[in-house]
Order: sequence, then C-alpha cells, then structure tokens
Amino acid sequence: MNPTINKRNIPQTFSVSKAYLPYGWHNDVSITIEKGIISNIILNSDVNKDSMQLTGALLSGIPHLHSHAFQRALAGLTEHTIGHTDTFWTWREAMYKLAMNFNPEWQKVVATQLYSEMLQAGYTSVVEFHYVHQPDPLGMSQAIIDAALETGIRLTLLPVLYQQSDFHNQPPNAGQQHFYHTLDDYIKLVATLDGLTKNHSQIEIGIAPHSIRAVGLEAMTELFKAYPDKVKHIHAAEQQKEINDSLNALNARPVEWLLDNFDVDESWCLIHCTHMTDEEVVALAKSKAVVGLCPTTEGNLGDGFFKLREYIAAGGRFGIGTDSNSSVSPIEELRLMEYVQRLRFQERNIVAGTHGSTGENLFNSAVAGGSQALNQNVGTIEVGQAADFLVIDTEHPQVVGHTDTLFDALLFSGNRNPIKRVMVNGEWIKTSENYVSKYASNFAKTMKAITKL
Ligand SMILES: [Zn+2]
Repeated sequence: MNPTINKRNIPQTFSVSKAYLPYGWHNDVSITIEKGIISNIILNSDVNKDSMQLTGALLSGIPHLHSHAFQRALAGLTEHTIGHTDTFWTWREAMYKLAMNFNPEWQKVVATQLYSEMLQAGYTSVVEFHYVHQPDPLGMSQAIIDAALETGIRLTLLPVLYQQSDFHNQPPNAGQQHFYHTLDDYIKLVATLDGLTKNHSQIEIGIAPHSIRAVGLEAMTELFKAYPDKVKHIHAAEQQKEINDSLNALNARPVEWLLDNFDVDESWCLIHCTHMTDEEVVALAKSKAVVGLCPTTEGNLGDGFFKLREYIAAGGRFGIGTDSNSSVSPIEELRLMEYVQRLRFQERNIVAGTHGSTGENLFNSAVAGGSQALNQNVGTIEVGQAADFLVIDTEHPQVVGHTDTLFDALLFSGNRNPIKRVMVNGEWIKTSENYVSKYASNFAKTMKAITKL
C-alpha cells in the first residue's frame, strides 16, 4: 500500500519557475492540490515563503496506454535465431512459454520493477492489458494492483478476455490455456476487481477482448452489453497474416470489421492498427477512438509502418505504450514514432505538419490520447484535474538553454533523463536517483530463475 496516502487530505501548495499549462508556458506558477486534485493555480505568483519552491519546468505526467507487465521478463531473451526465419509468430511461442510459468509472486515482482522504471522514465500512469490469468485469476490481477499501489503509479487495469486460438471458434492451444476465461467467469472477475479497487481513486477497471481472432462476435457483443460504460481496448491489425486470416474468415479486415459491427467511439482504444487501408485510416480517425502505438515493440516484432501522417491529417487520436516492455521510455517511443515516418517519406518533421514543433506536437498528442484511453481525470494542468506531474531539470545538458524548443530538446537531443521529480495523485514519487534500486534485488532473484526456464 502507498505509505503516504494519508497526506493527501492536507492541502499542499508549491511554486514552480515554469509550467506548461493548456494555453502554453507560464512563469512563476503556484499550484494547490487537495486530495490528489488540482484545486487552485495562480499565475505570475509572488514567492510564497511558506510553500515549497521548485526550480525547473512542470509538465503533465505522460499516460502509458498499453503494457503487458510480465513481458518485461522476456526482454533480451528472444533476440537470437534458431535455424528458421524469426517472426512475430515465432516470438509468440517464446512468450507463451514464459506465460505458462508465471505465477502471482513473479507477476508482482516483475510488475513492480517495471512500474518503477516507468515512473522514473516519465510515465505517471499505465493501462495494463492483462491476459495471463491462470493458475490464479484473482491472484494474478491482484499482483498487478499491488505493484501499482506499491510504486504509486496510476493504473487502468484491463483484464483480458481470451477464448479461442483463431477465427472460427478454434479452442485455445496449450500455450493459450493460461489466458482462457468463459464469459461468465470473466464478467465475475471484472465485478470483483471493481469492488476491490473502488476506494482507490487512482485505479480504474476497464475491459479488453484480446483481439478479433481470440473473441468472436457473439461473446464480444455480450461483453460490451454487460459493461457499456467501461473503456474498451483491443489489439487490431498488427500483422499482415492477421489481416489475411481475417479476410478469409470474416471477409473483412480487422479495423473494418470492428467499425462495421460496433459503435466504435471515444471509449475505444485500438492497439497497433499497423496495417490499415486509407479508407480505414479515415473512418477510424472519424470515430474519435484512440490508436495505441507502441513503436519500440512494433519495431522489435517487425510489425510494419503505421500510417501516422495520413491518420493525423484525418484528425486521428493516438497515444503511446511500451507493449512488450523491451524498452521503457516515452522519449524513445515518441522519437522512434517520428523517425519511422521520416524513413517512410524521406522528409523531416512529419508530426509537426506544416508548422510548429515536432516535440510539442508529439507530447501533446500522446498525453491527450493516453488520457482518453486511460479513462481517468489526467492529462492537463488545470483546476479539477488529478495532480500527475513531471518536473524537468532545465539545467540538465539535454535541455539547458531551451525555452520554446524545450520539447524538441527533450525528445531529440540525447538519451539521458532530465526528469528530476514525479508526482502522481498529489504524491511526490521520485526523489532520488536510487529510486529504482528499491525493487532491484527481488527482480534480480526472479530474473535469475526466469532465464533458467
Ligand atoms: Zn499488446
């Protein structure tokens, strides 16, 4: 449990030399927080000697919209070939092997390490797309909740419904048995998790059919009927084989099929959408759903190129996640997202459009899309929003001297970390460089067991 939770009931005020508010940068900003929510903002404030004084630049924390925590333990274990062409599908076999051996204890250790790394990197919240349920469905979910409470990260937990190995109701194969639920059991699990977390304002429960190959039309329809108001996430159109199989089985591409069969709207987040036609790009942008992009994983798995330039031109919304967690850095995700488009078009500054800052556009889009996908009250520094912040050290070599170009320097001028403080829900989380090492020895012990599997 968060040991500082009681402090949230006492209003706290701090002043910061520079803050990025919805209408741009402001100097000497004073912010008051009550019960984790911003209750007052004063611009150009005189220094209040009684309040905490911070130097640096205050930004909204970055929401992370797609993680499979257990896969943090797989990072580095699948980067060699064994006599055949390696693809997403061969990687998936290694992932299944790890999933079959996972248990609540490992889940908590690995997720705690991962979430502490996320906080240090600038993610203040995470959407956990959680599908390894067996051998103990409630224990496996509880381990994720415990890891979030222990580290202090904001969480939207999505227990995942997984029912079939492929289209046409094929039963789960041996590697997928640990993901399986009947619809009734799944609905009960969601209700139990709602009950367990109702007193934690920084935890939300959503729903997630794994993909259209893992859940059929009937079950998906029933699921959305059972929980019409919850945020809905689903993997879609990540791999060309999935598109071909979908066309064969359903006579429609995955994104097309979802748009045809459901009222896809702001409550939806479609993960990847790597392979879309131009018509799907426009239709999905119009729906106001968020696309969850995970560039380092999409690169690691050889998925392909998302049509980001076309999707932005159509008004599409997107956010970022680290999916397989082979890398845990919003800076790396956003930078790679832009570079992939530069390589596609042999141009520069694609996300900026015809004018503006690439870094600022990437940051704003990722925070807005991530907040929508998280379904929590975060993403902007204004009264009534949750107090999730980053403080950037503006004297750090990566950003020093930058004012209007601070976001560009943050994303495109190095690989060191200029974040010196992190607040989630009104609590300062990271205060020292040794933060991550708090969990390192448990993680080391667990990884030494996992790498022997
Ligand atoms: Zn995923």
